[in-house]
Order: sequence, then structure tokens, then C-alpha cells
Amino acid sequence: MTNQIPNMDDWISAGKTASEIREFGLGLIKTGSSLYEITEKIEDKIKDMGAECAFPPQLSPNATAAHYYAESEDIIVKEDDIIKLDLGIHVNGAIADTASSVCPSGKYDKLIQASRNALNRAIDIITPGLEIREIGKVIEKEITDMGYNPVRNLSGHGLGVFIIHCPPTIPNFDNKDSTKLKEGDIFAIEPFATEGFGTVTEKGSANLFSMIDSKPIRNPISSKLLKNIKRSYNTLPFAAKWVKEVFGETKANYALNDLINSGILRGYPPLVEVQKGLVSQAEHSLYVDENSAIVLTK
Ligand code: MN
Ligand code: MN
Repeated sequence: MTNQIPNMDDWISAGKTASEIREFGLGLIKTGSSLYEITEKIEDKIKDMGAECAFPPQLSPNATAAHYYAESEDIIVKEDDIIKLDLGIHVNGAIADTASSVCPSGKYDKLIQASRNALNRAIDIITPGLEIREIGKVIEKEITDMGYNPVRNLSGHGLGVFIIHCPPTIPNFDNKDSTKLKEGDIFAIEPFATEGFGTVTEKGSANLFSMIDSKPIRNPISSKLLKNIKRSYNTLPFAAKWVKEVFGETKANYALNDLINSGILRGYPPLVEVQKGLVSQAEHSLYVDENSAIVLTK
């Protein structure tokens, strides 16, 4: 659970940019807009700001809690939809990960408030020496008090240089982990609230991937794609769409499959609530200073 802090300025800068892009993206979620077109606008904005994605910006609708990346004109936002925007920015590998939820009609604002309140309560209690289970306890209480369930098999996580998920795991319920927070810890807290049971499962095929092993591969096309992935994304997740734009659809699909089958890449399919319950999410990245949390993505 140690995070190297090579340059605090990078973490602060990543957090600032991520917040700005989050607010920009949330403003685009309106009845009649497509998730694809919003994603494109967010990606363009990131490029315009000279920033780098820590992972592809995701817009997950309704019972899909996470890992939905729109890569074609597929889903048009309806007024009673609840859309989670989750995005990550890195500066020299220092990652800011942040998310928020929107319902255009306001019908599910209470569900949105539940995850937001849980996040704020959790941030309020952060201090060195706090047992990690206490964060989960506060999140669970806030969400259940409002009549919902936390999603228990999704959690916050430590943030490392070019590493999106590292210890500690920050639970959305009391998981009995008595590990204590330390000054200098950098992590994301991300409560999910649902009308459903509180469990998500993978559904459908993945269009998001990351490198989990960098061993060489024989096929020249796959080898070329792997080199590109290493150079462009390192171990950070990327969208199939991004490599299709460079290699063309046919070659990219062939090489992605080859790299998956060789155990070099892993995919991240959409995560859907098991009872099809609507899900809201709120997420901030923060570090622990000598007595409290400093939120990087405010
Ligand atoms: Mn996130
Ligand atoms: Mn996260």
C-alpha cells in the first residue's frame, strides 16, 4: 500500500484536468444526445487540453455500472436514464480517476445523491491511522439509510504511477479489513448505489483492454500492435477503437484476439447489476495528508 510520489505536482495537475473534463462531460449528457457523440467530444476536449487519458472515458447507462465504452452510434440518452461518466487522466503516469452520475429528468436524483453522499461522508473521515473497513462502513450506512444497496463487488483502489488499481482496496461495505491508512496514501473512493441486489457481473464482449504481460509474440501484425500498445498506453487500459484507427479494423481485430489468446491482453466487458437494478456512482481521487484527505479531483 505504498505509493511512490515522484512528483506531487503531477498528481495535482492530473486531478485538476480530470475535474474540468468531468464537468464538461456531465454538461453534455442530455436527452437525445448519443453516448458515442458525448464520448467523442470528451476525447476531443482531452486532446485539446494536451492531456492524456489514463483509460478510455466511459459512459455506463442504467443497470450497467461500469466499463461501457461507446464506440459507435448506439445508445441515445432518454430523459429517465441514469448515466455514469467515469474518466481518468494521467500526467507522467500520475493518475486521477473520477466519476459522477446524471439523470436528465431528475427522476433518479435520490439514487445519484446516495452515492454522492456516501463519497462525501467517506472523505470526511479520512485520516492517517483509520482502518480501511471504516470507510466501507460509512459508505454502506449512507447508502442503505437512503434505501439502496451498495455494490459490494466494486471498490475503490490505490493509484500508482501508470497503475490504475493497486492496494489498498477501498470497499463499499465493511469488509473487516483492519489495515490502517498512512500519510501519503493515494487512492480513489468510488461508491456505487443501486436499487438492485448490489452485485455486478460481466455481460457482453469487451472493447476495452490492457496489457497484463509483455512477453514477445511471433505473428508480425500482433507484434507490431503490441509495440504500439507498450509505447502508447503501457499497462493502462485502452479502447479497441483507438488501435483500429491506427491499424484498420481487420488487422486490429486479428491482433487483439491473438494477444488475448496469448495471455498478453485482458478485456474488460461491461459490468451489469445482476437484478438489472439502476446504478449510480460517485468517485474522487485523493491523498492522505497529516490529518485528512486532500481531494485531487474536486
Ligand atoms: Mn473511475
Ligand atoms: Mn476507480
